[in-house]
Amino acid sequence: MKRLTKLIHGGTPVDPHTGAVNVPIYQTSTYKQDDIGVHRGYEYSRTGNPTRHALEELIKELEGGARGLAFSSGLAAIHAVLSLLDSGDHVLVTDDVYGGTYRIITRVLSRMGIEATFVDTSDLHALEQAIQPRTKALFVETPTNPLLKLTDIAAVSRWTKANGLLFIVDNTFSTPYWQTPLALGADIVVHSATKYLGGHSDVVAGLAVTASEKLGEELHYIQNAVGGVLGPHDAWLLIRGMKTLGLRMEAHEANARAIAGFLASHPAVRRVYYPGLPWHPQHELARRQALGFGGMISFDAGSAEQASKVLGKVRYFTLAESLGAVESLISVPARMTHASIPKERREQLGITDGLLRLSVGIEDQEDLIADLEQSLEG
Ligand SMILES: *Cc1c(COP(=O)(O)O)cnc(C)c1O
Repeated sequence: MKRLTKLIHGGTPVDPHTGAVNVPIYQTSTYKQDDIGVHRGYEYSRTGNPTRHALEELIKELEGGARGLAFSSGLAAIHAVLSLLDSGDHVLVTDDVYGGTYRIITRVLSRMGIEATFVDTSDLHALEQAIQPRTKALFVETPTNPLLKLTDIAAVSRWTKANGLLFIVDNTFSTPYWQTPLALGADIVVHSATKYLGGHSDVVAGLAVTASEKLGEELHYIQNAVGGVLGPHDAWLLIRGMKTLGLRMEAHEANARAIAGFLASHPAVRRVYYPGLPWHPQHELARRQALGFGGMISFDAGSAEQASKVLGKVRYFTLAESLGAVESLISVPARMTHASIPKERREQLGITDGLLRLSVGIEDQEDLIADLEQSLEG
């Protein structure tokens, strides 16, 4: 099955109990047992729910894994995955990782005795320098947020395998429509499904897919024990959104390519970050490991004042957190998504005060470019 077909027919496309062509919202917390412990696959909805199960089967197939799991948010999924680690373990993490992931690791897991080193995972040499005897896992985001830096998943997976590390990839930005990290050697994929997978800014959700049954069992144990599960209504909304993932991703990308080209030639723009630009330092890697470049662009407007001016003038780019939905959004990472990262560290990473991040929507391309043009004027 090719990926556009998988989005429609993958997982559990028809309700096995009724034949309904959309798996219904099984709004139930518990299930009748025919005798003690004798049930029809479901006992209690924290452990399992048919609507959630349909979603979990769908993401499992899309990512090409052994088990899919749906969580109440991307961070709940990331927290569950990192809970596979023990006190005393050490984890390597991409340096410009999502701010919320940075916060879990430095403020929550640190209190449980799990240590982390943030490292430029696009540089294998830097990884080799950072590994410690207690290192158990590598957590990579690629492309990163907001600088669109890439990690070579296949090369890094050879290195994690040689060193016995669990290799986790946050695939939120690319989605399985463009990139399937498990096929390149990762052990676990996580998503903020709130973004492209949902696609309509109407649901907060997280997904995880494991390459092996064994890891899937361990992660389900944590999911059930801790309880950060996705409710049936949100699971249903997510399935509905995911049916059009392919159409949306193609539209996001067509718009993003045109906008990146426009920004790159604009005199008021200091620098554009988009892997689809031929001079992006990792353009070749982007072409090799993914089928598309995605819909996220960051650009440096030069200063905080200039960035504020653009924000004040744009009409079709809504100032908001989040990304990946049909409507175009604009944000200032230094003051929003990445505000929880200390300023000094942000500057080191290149997340300057003048950096603007665009989540390019699926509106008309000419309207979007004209909007940016008028906002950059003067
Ligand atoms: C938004 C986001 C998260 C967190 O997901 P939530 O659904 O907001 O909890 C994690 N990783 C990346 C790359 C994100 O963009």
